Amino acid sequence: MHVPLFKVHVPPREVLMPRLEAVLYSGQIGEGEAVKKFEAEFGRFVGNPNTLSFNSGTAALHTALILAGVQPGDEVISTPMTAEPTNMAVRHAGAKPIWADVDPLNGNLSPESIAEKITPKTKAILVVHYAGVPASIRRIREISEKHGIPVVEDAAHALGALYEGKNIGNHSEYTMFSFQAIKHMTTVDGGMLVCKNPEDLPTGRRVRWFGIDRAQPRIKVDIREVGYKYHMNDVTATIGLAQLQSIRWVIDRHIDNGRFYDRELSRIPGVQICRHDADATPAYWLYTVMVDRRDDLARHLTESGIDCSQAHRRNDQHPVFAESRADLPGLDCFFSRMLHIPCGWWVTDEQRQYVVDCIRRGW
Ligand SMILES: *Cc1c(COP(=O)(O)O)cnc(C)c1O
Repeated sequence: MHVPLFKVHVPPREVLMPRLEAVLYSGQIGEGEAVKKFEAEFGRFVGNPNTLSFNSGTAALHTALILAGVQPGDEVISTPMTAEPTNMAVRHAGAKPIWADVDPLNGNLSPESIAEKITPKTKAILVVHYAGVPASIRRIREISEKHGIPVVEDAAHALGALYEGKNIGNHSEYTMFSFQAIKHMTTVDGGMLVCKNPEDLPTGRRVRWFGIDRAQPRIKVDIREVGYKYHMNDVTATIGLAQLQSIRWVIDRHIDNGRFYDRELSRIPGVQICRHDADATPAYWLYTVMVDRRDDLARHLTESGIDCSQAHRRNDQHPVFAESRADLPGLDCFFSRMLHIPCGWWVTDEQRQYVVDCIRRGW
């Protein structure tokens, strides 16, 4: 048996190919009607109509930081326990990531540590829902509101996760989703920013397209700010529209496998599962266990045909972020004990039982 850790989900050929062929030969492949439709339908899926599409999640994050008012020299409180795009976007905005520590039981930012790291230079709090486990948004929002500092949620792992009964994408000023190849939903590459305030949308549209207001005649428009080439196109948006037809099933299958592991693995001595707030539903992009002798468990699973890994290097170890170094005992603990195991839509009932049986045999 071989159980992969990641798998790309592409819609069935008969759903995707006629639409793709139609758009490719339509004479309109740039940003047009399909992009508008995808933004509207994605907004309905997450329950927030204030959507801005991008050609990557990183571009969406960079734009979110600009909309949040982050400028060169500012500080952004962030987590090192993430994929590199999270913190590269902070650097793209010219700002310095300030590491807050994480909860050793799920790798998400600790609200207490965020509160301790706020300075007069702090312009945003960047929160990752690591592996799909929602961070403690209620307490993070309290800190944000007390200090008047906006929150940007990196929900690249958390499409379909819930917090206090609402989809991720409805709590903070900005939430970013990624449609990179191995996320819950892919458009090959792409991203979406959902905003709390609809007044951010016109500025966001200018930032993502050279600073140009597309509603104005092109040769009359005055460009007043630096903009980027960050927009989505009709071809990738068409893939996104086709993906939306099966995304509910994909997410539900991740969640069903995740709950199975929650039940079964929590009974195995020596296996610690991730904690989450009582009113949160994780999206289980990956399933993370914490154990002693993690590398031995990894070897044991690999020998049994089960792919597993840490997936991400803690970002504070990269020389490019050397200036941000800080003591992070919670992260030291989490990073030395964590391992991701397969949990996605492709993992069958038989395979997930096999994974549990392998872990139960010991390592
Ligand atoms: C995938 C990912 C992103 C965005 O990546 P893109 O490839 O630019 O879409 C951002 N943050 C995290 C944590 C990710 O895993």
